[in-house]
Amino acid sequence: MDRANSTGNGIGLSASSRGLWGMLIMGLRVKIGRVGRSIQCFTENRTDRLFRRIWGGMTRTGQRLINASGDTMGGLMTKFAARDNNKHSDLALDAVLAKVREGLRLSCEDGLVLYETPDIWSVLGAANSVRRRLHGNVAWYNVNRHLNYTNVCALSCHFCAFHRKRGDDGAYEYTIDEVREEAKKAAAAGATEMHVVGGLHPWHPFEFYTDMLRVIREEAPRVHIKAFTAVEIVHLAKISKRGRDGADGIRSVLEELRAAGLGSLPGGGAEVFDDRIHDEVFKGKIRGDAWMDVHRIAHELGIHTNATMLYGHVEGRMERLRHMELLRSQQDATLLAWAGQQGIATENSQVVLSGPDERYPNLRLPTVDTCDTGYYQTCIPLPFIPDDSKLERLYGPTGLENMRTLAIARLMLDNIPHMKTFWIMQTLPASQLMLEMGGADDIDGTVVWYDITKVEGEGTHQEVTVQDLHRVMRESGLEPAERDTLYRRVTRNDAEWSTC
Ligand code: SF4
Repeated sequence: MDRANSTGNGIGLSASSRGLWGMLIMGLRVKIGRVGRSIQCFTENRTDRLFRRIWGGMTRTGQRLINASGDTMGGLMTKFAARDNNKHSDLALDAVLAKVREGLRLSCEDGLVLYETPDIWSVLGAANSVRRRLHGNVAWYNVNRHLNYTNVCALSCHFCAFHRKRGDDGAYEYTIDEVREEAKKAAAAGATEMHVVGGLHPWHPFEFYTDMLRVIREEAPRVHIKAFTAVEIVHLAKISKRGRDGADGIRSVLEELRAAGLGSLPGGGAEVFDDRIHDEVFKGKIRGDAWMDVHRIAHELGIHTNATMLYGHVEGRMERLRHMELLRSQQDATLLAWAGQQGIATENSQVVLSGPDERYPNLRLPTVDTCDTGYYQTCIPLPFIPDDSKLERLYGPTGLENMRTLAIARLMLDNIPHMKTFWIMQTLPASQLMLEMGGADDIDGTVVWYDITKVEGEGTHQEVTVQDLHRVMRESGLEPAERDTLYRRVTRNDAEWSTC
């Protein structure tokens, strides 16, 4: 596998630019290649498409962005900063925002009101209030390494620009020795997590996957291995001839992977839980019910998982809300069963989490130390990036739609503790806004290599330093907190670290 052309400086942030304008422009600058040549996306051929994707709803006049009312982005942000959080401009929001203030659960219809209101600032403000109720001023990140061990895949999902067939240009496969080298590098860099996912390789035997986990465990015994989407787990059940055993087959695969070193599931491959969407853009992949079965069984085994939603392609907003509702129902069932075993009373058949703010007395945030069942730790809304996929004709979601979707996910998913803005797909500047005012409390980590999506450009070296992440968080008035995969605080001295 030749990665010589992929090395470089990753996403570069110019220290000289300050403020929102600076962050927006910096976010559109991608440095590629060893010499760190930077591409100013505002002057590239793909400018207009990228521009529409990121800041749809605003018009570009020269270097200025304005909306239909003539507001500049800076003007809008000033308005946001000056607004009174108890007032909003859309009366349709009254009932929904009252529910948020009282810590009550929102319905999908409430979610649609939040999607359709022109007063996006009130939506962001409500999500921010819930995020601060749960996590105060803390913003989480981790020191991690992503490993996409192959892009060779038996399927061809329409939205996927990552997969290749063996022999295609750009197809690659890590060997076990190469995985071992990556694990050594992760351990030497002080990573606390390796995030391992790949395509559904048609010829690798099941032992390849257990070997991969074992060599990571050997070389990096303290590193948590977060590996395999539910789609890969079902694939592993098939290739290990356990596919016909249903839930028992999945359970036995998960147990064997755990014995080899698996720590948790990352939550990819969920897309949008809807059969119409499944048949239109990812037929061949498992449906939503099968995805949720894998996670339910993982939770029963005490394995924590995350949940994603890939949005902004052919789905509608109500379908996103139903996706969130399905996740929420499954989490209710898991946490209520756990609370019942612990003798913890809950008022009804719903779980709404409470954090440090005691005004909302419901189930406290479970932690790995207090909860021996697995559950969804984090939701990660992922914006669809059309470049080089079979759906390239689509624009993908705009920046404002991304902010709104993450905020609504925070409000709808009242029983999932964390909301992550995955900076690789959202961009670092947009992630900063989501942390500060949009409901996110987590930004993922230092990443280093990520092959599955690139916001713009060709590089797969996508790395930020811990200092970059701290700066993004501190500029937002947030307290950066390093975590491990299970959200325990990490204290660190260079590559040496411990949890507390
Ligand atoms: S999304 Fe996953 S399963 Fe679908 S083609 Fe891409 S790598 Fe394969």
